[in-house]
Amino acid sequence: MSDPNSLRATTSFRLERQPLDLRFRSTRLAARQWITPGYVRIRLEGSDLIGFDSPGSDDHIRVFFPDIEPGSVDELRAAPSREYTPLAWDGEAGWLDLEFALHGAEGVAAPWAATAEIGAFAGVGGPRGSMLITGRPDAWLLAGDETAVPAMRRFAHLMDEGAVGRIIVEVVDTEHELPIDAPAGVTVEQVHRGGAASGTALAARLDTLTAADRPNGDVFGFVAAEQAIVKTGRALLIDRWGLSADQIVVKGYWKRGESEYHAPH
Ligand SMILES: Cc1cc2nc3c(=O)[nH]c(=O)nc-3n(C[C@H](O)[C@H](O)[C@H](O)COP(=O)(O)OP(=O)(O)OC[C@H]3O[C@@H](n4cnc5c(N)ncnc54)[C@H](O)[C@@H]3O)c2cc1C
Repeated sequence: MSDPNSLRATTSFRLERQPLDLRFRSTRLAARQWITPGYVRIRLEGSDLIGFDSPGSDDHIRVFFPDIEPGSVDELRAAPSREYTPLAWDGEAGWLDLEFALHGAEGVAAPWAATAEIGAFAGVGGPRGSMLITGRPDAWLLAGDETAVPAMRRFAHLMDEGAVGRIIVEVVDTEHELPIDAPAGVTVEQVHRGGAASGTALAARLDTLTAADRPNGDVFGFVAAEQAIVKTGRALLIDRWGLSADQIVVKGYWKRGESEYHAPH
């Protein structure tokens, strides 16, 4: 008798980690575009960005914000820094676009993105490694708050025309919605938290998804937002949908009340 599990001996895709050489680059703020009142896209430029590459959709770089322009890599590395997702870049022309969720006057990175003068210095370190999707997921579930939108935009960019799935973005309200371009078979839904704590509306929405909502086949799941989302994301993807831990990414991208939070890898 044939083993029914042998039908699933191979999966439609795999996640593969790829280490990269760590490089530190000097850049300058070249342009700022307001996407919503709480979300800004910036362009960094500089000859150091020639050769920059970011193979993985949820790659992160470390952006450094020194008070004065550093004279060495050691000085640069001593400056405050935060993690951001490369959105788009041209490694020949030497530019890199990033998107920043703004969250009030606190912190280093968000205020810099909102107010730094054009021409201001910023350092870029990494990415030091990438996670690559090889093969083709049968379906996609992407869910996150504003900080995960750049990664979700990049995953959506990988999808082919026949892709199916669901993208859920948590924002404050209609005025702050962040549309994500995706193929017709992928629904993009914006959930509003209003005055509630960040992540709570997304968690409530994920909690409504049951086993019956699981798409068929091998699903790639990506969930990233305030750290508390990790429990909710795992409960959906692993407990209710039975996805394997090595086919999903569930991460806290920041932690309430903590500066410079480092997500466990
Ligand atoms: C792998 C990875 C990729 C990321 N990519 C992006 C990205 O592309 N774009 C992006 O905007 N963010 C991204 N983040 C999140 C970003 O690194 C954090 O939000 C970071 O803490 C912001 O730094 P800050 O200097 O503005 O605030 P911090 O000095 O770190 O924090 C100051 C205070 O603000 C709070 N805080 C931090 N972030 C937020 C927030 N989003 N909303 C509300 N309160 C907050 C903290 O809890 C703290 O109390 C990513 C994080 C990771 C781990």
